[in-house]
Amino acid sequence: TIEFVRATQLQGDEEPSAPPTSTQAQQKESIQAVRRSLPVFPFREELLAAIANHQVLIIEGETGSGKTTQIPQYLFEEGYTKKGMKIACTQPRRVAAMSVAARVAREMGVKLGNEVGYSIRFEDCTSERTVLRYMTDGMLLREFLSEPDLASYSVVMVDEAHERTLHTDILFGLIKDVARFRPELKVLVASATLDTARFSTFFDDAPVFRIPGRRFPVDIFYTKAPEADYLEACVVSVLQIHVTQPPGDILVFLTGQEEIEAACEMLQDRCRRLGSKIRELLVLPIYANLPSDMQARIFQPTPPGARKVVVATNIAETSLTIEGIIYVLDPGFCKQKSYNPRTGMESLTVTPCSKASANQRAGRAGRVAAGKCFRLYTAWAYQHELEETTVPEIQRTSLGNVVLLLKSLGIHDLMHFDFLDAPPYETLLLALEQLYALGALNHLGELTTSGRKMAELPVDPMLSKMILASEKYSCSEEILTVAAMLSVNNSIFYRPKDKVVHADNARVNFFLPGGDHLVLLNVYTQWAESGYSSQWCYENFVQFRSMRRARDVREQLEGLLERVEVGLSSCQGDYIRVRKAITAGYFYHTARLTRSGYRTVKQQQTVFIHPNSSLFEQQPRWLLYHELVLTTKEFMRQVLEIESSWLLEVAPHYYKAKELEDPHAKKMPKKIGKTREELG
Ligand code: ADP
Ligand code: MG
Repeated sequence: TIEFVRATQLQGDEEPSAPPTSTQAQQKESIQAVRRSLPVFPFREELLAAIANHQVLIIEGETGSGKTTQIPQYLFEEGYTKKGMKIACTQPRRVAAMSVAARVAREMGVKLGNEVGYSIRFEDCTSERTVLRYMTDGMLLREFLSEPDLASYSVVMVDEAHERTLHTDILFGLIKDVARFRPELKVLVASATLDTARFSTFFDDAPVFRIPGRRFPVDIFYTKAPEADYLEACVVSVLQIHVTQPPGDILVFLTGQEEIEAACEMLQDRCRRLGSKIRELLVLPIYANLPSDMQARIFQPTPPGARKVVVATNIAETSLTIEGIIYVLDPGFCKQKSYNPRTGMESLTVTPCSKASANQRAGRAGRVAAGKCFRLYTAWAYQHELEETTVPEIQRTSLGNVVLLLKSLGIHDLMHFDFLDAPPYETLLLALEQLYALGALNHLGELTTSGRKMAELPVDPMLSKMILASEKYSCSEEILTVAAMLSVNNSIFYRPKDKVVHADNARVNFFLPGGDHLVLLNVYTQWAESGYSSQWCYENFVQFRSMRRARDVREQLEGLLERVEVGLSSCQGDYIRVRKAITAGYFYHTARLTRSGYRTVKQQQTVFIHPNSSLFEQQPRWLLYHELVLTTKEFMRQVLEIESSWLLEVAPHYYKAKELEDPHAKKMPKKIGKTREELG
């Protein structure tokens, strides 16, 4: 068992009360009654009046008050979608956009994709009729490319603004500008109760509309001592809560899919072993790649007598509200991107969450009744080790994508763009440099023809460049597949605990000389040859859902090829061409083997091949990687063996022969060892 001590209480606005039983919850008759019971409802008229009177309105309200699901409906009812005008509501997360749109469609009694729809990258569930569009912030950003003044929208609601994702932050600047020359456009900025004053100041002192909270007090408990293995501690604590605490569902915050799946498996396993000694415990995961039918399950009411435990990523922090949660279990971590502009290395790491985040999480326990939050860290750690707030993403990510987009929108002076928080100067500079190296910008920083094409593709600049390069190497069929597989990566292979050996063998069977990109290509090609069969996936320990998604992505990218003037062609088994095309996009991400292991070519950073890679044992001299992931070390994920001469072929402006010489080879006499540079 794990010992917790009660330390503080998160104040509520309501008196503590007994948790409602699930039968009571089920009795809440109609969906309309639920709508009327939400905290925002009594403010409907006041809110609509404020929107009518002000062009920009900041809306602040506790999570679950009805901002996301209700406000767009109010606007719809009020006639903001007359004459075919649309309402956009942005979400930082794909899952939230899908789930919320589905909910609103149900509330309005329409089919999802008709009046209400969602639009996320590689998946568009909207039609001509769609007037309420839930979309990721990244998708609205791309809307600017086709409609720079957002002329078909009457209202833009930037939701979950407190998340401060990169795309949301860029949207602020663009929308502020559009609002100036479109006085009839309504702009709403919705946020949990954080930081709203900043938004108001940014939007020229726009008024803040507060939806009063409705939250019960939450008792906060900390562990007495730090926990070494938080996953194990989580599992133990969930069972402990289940056995010792009165009814009420549990919400657990973990950092990502792998962790969540592991925790769910462990929980189910232990419940099975305890059998009828404990009451039924429903274990439900929720994370970005979870298929939507599984996502919907977390919202279903818990059957009487049972208890539900939802194991979630940050998504449940503010984007989704699950009814009936009384207990929150918070290990205090989240997965965070960080970026080093000096080295150009981006990494995704599990880091302690901020205090603001921890308190949002705790708040989830007080929605329906007084709740409890168990933190798997000490009160001391909370006080001394957690940052106050999370640093906005714009200050800890690479900006290549966004800079390319802004350049395509004709915004040249990025240093003076209206940022809520400016990104580090070096990061902007490096993005410009990289886009120049990729041939997207010329030496004056202007968009090139190739850059314009790259911006057309909804993927990272390096991936776009790879796709464009497939024209030259006549292998676009293969490159499309690689691109599609890379965009669903890390969830291709299925590795159940009880069949690890079989699963690993199946994976090794796909290995091809050259590296992981070719392995991905191989998996996809064999699956296509099987007639896209689910049975084939099952037999080969491949995740059918991921493959289906890869197929969708591939189709969409294929549909865009014509726009970027790339013809369909196949390399006919000549994989060197595929590898060269990949190198043409990823020449920035290269490493070479030195006596002391792998070092990145330009920056000389120490890196390691991920143990899951097909090249883990071969240790080729030169390679490129798709991404770096920092866990215990800087791991390169998805690596491909290359030849150093290819770097000179695909990026002669970036690499000089000299730096690609083998430092350990015998020094050649100077006369003979002339570099290409010296020879002109
Ligand atoms: P906010 O945006 O203010 O956090 P929402 O509009 O997302 O609030 O949620 C309002 C209420 O709608 C929630 O309390 C929840 O009861 C309900 N709700 C939202 N999404 C779903 C869903 N997918 N299934 C069932 N209920 C939902
Ligand atoms: Mg919301």
